[in-house]
Amino acid sequence: MTEGRIIKALSGFYYVKSGDSIYQCRGRGVFRKQNITPLVGDFVEFDSQNPEEGYILSIKERKNRLVRPPVSNIDQAIIASSAAKPDFNPLLLDRFLVMIESKRITPIILITKKDLKDESELESIVHYQRLYEAIGYSVKLISALQFEESGGLIHDLANRVSVIAGQSGVGKSSLLNALNTSLTLKTDEISTSLGRGKHTTRHVELVEIGGGLVADTPGFSTLDFDDIAPDELAECFPEISERQAGCKFRGCFHNKEPKCAVKQAVEEGKIAQSRYNHYLRFLNEIYSRKPRY
Ligand code: GDP
Ligand code: ZN
Repeated sequence: MTEGRIIKALSGFYYVKSGDSIYQCRGRGVFRKQNITPLVGDFVEFDSQNPEEGYILSIKERKNRLVRPPVSNIDQAIIASSAAKPDFNPLLLDRFLVMIESKRITPIILITKKDLKDESELESIVHYQRLYEAIGYSVKLISALQFEESGGLIHDLANRVSVIAGQSGVGKSSLLNALNTSLTLKTDEISTSLGRGKHTTRHVELVEIGGGLVADTPGFSTLDFDDIAPDELAECFPEISERQAGCKFRGCFHNKEPKCAVKQAVEEGKIAQSRYNHYLRFLNEIYSRKPRY
């Protein structure tokens, strides 16, 4: 029995990477009984009949999983937003951050298209860079067109499984293509043209870049908070979650409650007003579960 990781699923076959070899595997009937389907990203045990083929015997417990794209055991998500074209959008960035935090995946923030802003225009972007860095996030201000400016991103990919996320047009494909010239990243067009809720069986593959694996399909194309309970939201804002023990009331939602350590931190400028506003806005959305756009 050998251990490996599924890096691609296609036409009933699972491609399992083990050491430097890739085995084309089928799943044994056992999965149907257990009602689990092997996913790209899964760590598996398999029997190999020869150096190229095998049968998957079992799937190790997953640390997390995404539905779109269907990938498990993701270590980090790179959220791409752009400095311009489309304009930098802190609200959308916070939506992505909340989605990613709720799945217990580490986010890395990328602000692309730095080249479209001159020095003075960059000030407001750098302000946001500092704001998110103060929360503890890694923020890279880059231009995908200037590879040498990729801000050390390639080093962050090593030994991890990464998913890239972000609004359409911010430069996700350009960036990954710049990092790895052998890769042609697919774009979001399926999810946007078919709309939400449609089942599209999308093919996903983990591609080796910079000594790590990157999903070749962007993640989090729909940003709904359906899986997040009101009391989980604060956990998705590190600067709120680290302060809430100081609130007078247990289960404080940091909204209308008195003696709230979070609101006090906002007043003292320790929590950015924009972040707190977005927290309240998302809390409201979660309560009302209404469409957001
Ligand atoms: P995606 O939808 O996020 O995958 O975005 P694309 O990679 O398709 O990029 C959208 C457009 O932005 C393309 O026309 C790219 O050439 C352009 N673009 C991407 N990155 C940069 C950048 O760093 N600077 C500039 N000026 N344009 C960029
Ligand atoms: Zn509170």
